[in-house]
Amino acid sequence: MSAINVKELTAKFPKVSELIELKESSWFNPEITTFDEAVKDVGLDAANIKDASDRLKRFAPYLCKAFPETAVTKGIIESEIISIDNMKKALEEKFGTKITGKLLLKKDSHLPISGSIKARGGIYEVLFHAEELAMKAGLLKPEDDYSKLFSEEFKNFFKNYKIAVGSTGNLGLSIGIMSAKLGFNVSVHMSADAREWKKKKLRANGVNVVEYQNDYSVAVAQGREEAKKDPSCFFIDDENSKTLFLGYSVAGERLKNQLDNMGIIVDKEHPLFVYLPCGVGGGPGGVAFGVKNQYKDNAHCIFAEPTHSPCMYLGVYTGLHEKISVQDIGIDNVTAADGLAVGRPSGFVGRAMHRLIDGYYTISDDEMYRLLALLNKKENVKLEPSALAGMEGPIRVAQNEEYLKRMGFDEKTLANATHIVWATGGGMVPAEEMTKYLEKGASL
Ligand SMILES: *Cc1c(COP(=O)(O)O)cnc(C)c1O
Repeated sequence: MSAINVKELTAKFPKVSELIELKESSWFNPEITTFDEAVKDVGLDAANIKDASDRLKRFAPYLCKAFPETAVTKGIIESEIISIDNMKKALEEKFGTKITGKLLLKKDSHLPISGSIKARGGIYEVLFHAEELAMKAGLLKPEDDYSKLFSEEFKNFFKNYKIAVGSTGNLGLSIGIMSAKLGFNVSVHMSADAREWKKKKLRANGVNVVEYQNDYSVAVAQGREEAKKDPSCFFIDDENSKTLFLGYSVAGERLKNQLDNMGIIVDKEHPLFVYLPCGVGGGPGGVAFGVKNQYKDNAHCIFAEPTHSPCMYLGVYTGLHEKISVQDIGIDNVTAADGLAVGRPSGFVGRAMHRLIDGYYTISDDEMYRLLALLNKKENVKLEPSALAGMEGPIRVAQNEEYLKRMGFDEKTLANATHIVWATGGGMVPAEEMTKYLEKGASL
């Protein structure tokens, strides 16, 4: 089916050979440019992010009531950011490479409601849709106290509408739990690699789970087809949704507040590096967009993917974006990293962000497991394997002389750097599953 000629492709793009061989590989894009220039590719701007941020503020009184665990943050779904000095030392020893500056962990793994980064974009898109429906029906105005949505009246209203999504797990959890809470009739179309406990949790929350024996893109395609037949059904399109993307992007202003409160400066002399695990691209792309909007050229975002699913690396590096899948070059797209088992990247994100993302790298499943066990040992933080993909980022940067030189980072600047590893999931993994992860990591 595919028209990809692998021989020609590897001749033109030599790193594709490393990807095919499932080697850990890094590529730092020489085409990145200034924020002011590159942001033109996105087609969205700071006003769009503010709109998303304001919407989440309107919903805060509702979330506070519907999910009491968000009461401590007054209905704002946000995660902690912590220093991981012991892990920094452990990484330096493990790789024989110095990490200059600070090493922080952004714990989206422990976001309320769904325990992953999907609690940003997924929940935001459901709220966006609910608001639109309620406003059109004349039931809601922007100046209302949105806690009124937590009522039988609104549940009965939303019951008439359907929401569908295709998911490898975490997006399904976020959208399923949020939609069911509002009262929607929600279906989650899940790929073969989705974990049993996630399906169980969804069913327990009143979500209709549809299972497929194929990978993620098939689940998405079938979900989309079903939704097309039914005008009352809204399909959440993980591959192309700008709403999801904007939901993630609100992380930028929140991060800036957190760093300001910690007294952490980001400027030309104090660069910020952010390492983001990437699946289809919406999560890391949206977060990176938000972070770049705050810090412009002083923030450097790097995407991390499993060696078995390097879809965004492949798409951006070859310029083929969604026109190429990892299967086209003979890679199986089988990985233990939930949420990252994606064979074909979002063309929207790849094109929008291609001059705003400094680099891409791949990491093996075994390495993610080893880092999972190491982080637990050194910092007592428990994550799922995918959330460790970014942990090697500071090492990959430190080891890449070409990139450091091209960017003009000298020793003094690097000593002032802040490295943030974005931990994207794990907070809801059942204890016995987590024990298995930790044992596996310790045994490798
Ligand atoms: C979904 C997910 C990601 C990546 O997000 P995408 O939008 O698919 O790129 C990373 N980590 C975890 C744990 C996820 O669930």
